[in-house]
Amino acid sequence: MAIGEFDLINRYFDRPSHQCAITRLGIGDDCALLSVPEGQHLAVTTDTMVENIHFFPDADPFCLGHKILAVNLSDLAAMGAKPVAVSLALTLPKPDPDWLEAFAQGFWQLADRYQIDLIGGDTTAGPLSITVQAMGLINEKMALRRSNAKPGDAIYITGTIGDACLALKMIEGNYQGESDAVLSRLHQPLPRVAEGLSLLGIASACVDISDGLTSDLGHILKKSGVGATLTWDALAFSSSVRNYVRITGDWKMPLIGGEDYELCFTVPLSKQSILNGLMEQMDCTKIGVIDQVPGLRIIKDNQVTSFEMQGYQHFL
Ligand code: ADP
Ligand code: MG
Repeated sequence: MAIGEFDLINRYFDRPSHQCAITRLGIGDDCALLSVPEGQHLAVTTDTMVENIHFFPDADPFCLGHKILAVNLSDLAAMGAKPVAVSLALTLPKPDPDWLEAFAQGFWQLADRYQIDLIGGDTTAGPLSITVQAMGLINEKMALRRSNAKPGDAIYITGTIGDACLALKMIEGNYQGESDAVLSRLHQPLPRVAEGLSLLGIASACVDISDGLTSDLGHILKKSGVGATLTWDALAFSSSVRNYVRITGDWKMPLIGGEDYELCFTVPLSKQSILNGLMEQMDCTKIGVIDQVPGLRIIKDNQVTSFEMQGYQHFL
């Protein structure tokens, strides 16, 4: 049965708002209205996913609904912001109810977990493209910026890196792997929202790893005017990524591969003991140190390799 634009919005996306602090008016008018509490800033970020660029044409709609929200929440996490509201722009070739039902389920499962309101959006016909704008609250003096890393700060990552890139290699038939866990790292990344909030007042700089560790840490280095040295043996990998590196010898993959959506952050010596107290809940690993000399280096087998700090760039 055909479904029009407004029925579609009502059926899948218009839900009562959570009892959250900031939505004053949600879906249904020309604009939503938000009120930002005194002493807080509204952190705003947008990410788009386009068919054939960010996902394959047969991609599972449940996973797309999850992922478009997850990648936006990951940006909020990287600033230490608490997610509160999002808007959703959907461009669809046709309004397929099965696709929409699954997409909405994936989207709402993650949105409800963080009590996020969907406050508006846009729905148009065209080649499949999905955009979310996410908004979070952050104490006006506390945001985790990229620009404040200092020589001597320790560098950490949450979780493990390389899994999402390995999943892509498996899907493209370039590597035979075993693991559903690896595939879910690509299809259903979990944004490090709690970790970002825990790092407020501790991390000097933070970024989420969307384009690859060397690229994203590179953003911190450039903005902060510093360099870094990483230790290969300290890096945290899943057993699947470890096996991949052992079998193929391609040790750079987990450093340059994107889409892990972990956090990379720096911590000054003075805050180290506070972080140590959080280490068990935080699932994070110290991987290197910020230094004065510009550039990014990694020590592996007693040899120093310099890295280009470039990840995936559209148009290049
Ligand atoms: P306008 O034409 O004034 O921009 P629309 O008619 O496009 O508004 O949308 C009607 C209402 O539905 C608006 O409040 C808009 O924010 C909301 N909306 C449209 N598409 C979506 C969507 N995909 N998800 C959530 N809200 C949506
Ligand atoms: Mg209008």
